[in-house]
Amino acid sequence: MEQGSLSMKMIIGNWKMHLGIRESVAYARGVLHITVGHDVLPEVVICPSFTALSEVRKVLVRTRVALGAQTMGTERFGAYTGDVSVAQLDDAGCGFVLIGHSERRAMNGETDAVVNTKMKLIAQTSLVPILCVGEPKAARDAGNAEAYVIGQIHEALRGVTLSSSSRLIVAYEPLWAIGKGEAATVADVVAMHTAIRNALKTLYKTIALQVIYGGSVDGAHAYQLLREQSIDGVLVGGASLKIHEFEAIVNAGREVMTAQNI
Ligand code: PEP
Repeated sequence: MEQGSLSMKMIIGNWKMHLGIRESVAYARGVLHITVGHDVLPEVVICPSFTALSEVRKVLVRTRVALGAQTMGTERFGAYTGDVSVAQLDDAGCGFVLIGHSERRAMNGETDAVVNTKMKLIAQTSLVPILCVGEPKAARDAGNAEAYVIGQIHEALRGVTLSSSSRLIVAYEPLWAIGKGEAATVADVVAMHTAIRNALKTLYKTIALQVIYGGSVDGAHAYQLLREQSIDGVLVGGASLKIHEFEAIVNAGREVMTAQNI
């Protein structure tokens, strides 16, 4: 496949450290309800806590909603108390895993080197990495946002072997827009996504690449973002925990795909 957008839009819900098992199952059923009966539907992925993965998986089996994990360990197996390996996530039914989320970078020591180790482990599995990158406010104010983000991507992918069947999702999530109630402007997002695509063009010629945006996305402005060709989807935190917001975001994806004949 030529490098470039997969045409379908993508909506990922990151539930973070919210919801118990029963709540997660109920909420997953709510998400399913949003998606049934529509011919045109964005790819929808939900990322519950580890504790809820296996029960949520049962709800999602044979549906069009996929399961993702919020993080993973840096080893294949062994004496790593508390860690969960990528093989265990595969076993739990995850098709996707978030890597390098800014909250894990800031609070759990997930450095670029750690992100790179995880990318190498994922590359040996069928899971799809959702590589989160994004600049702090200071880097943007100094005019270094693109250099910062492209640097993160280069570090993450250093020595990673991706084949023509590989799929990579890069989630551009500027730190100053996450959980702040105010998203980046569409123009800023489009400019960054273009820079990311250009940077990756020189690295890999034939992978399936999607570049999505995250940072205070809600139902009110999801359409504005998703209608841009360079924005393949959105990664949603807070609003993914409000079913009506999440529904509005999924519907925005449907509207864009319908309008653009995707
Ligand atoms: C996130 O945590 O990935 C995120 C995008 O959060 P929010 O939508 O709440 O800004």
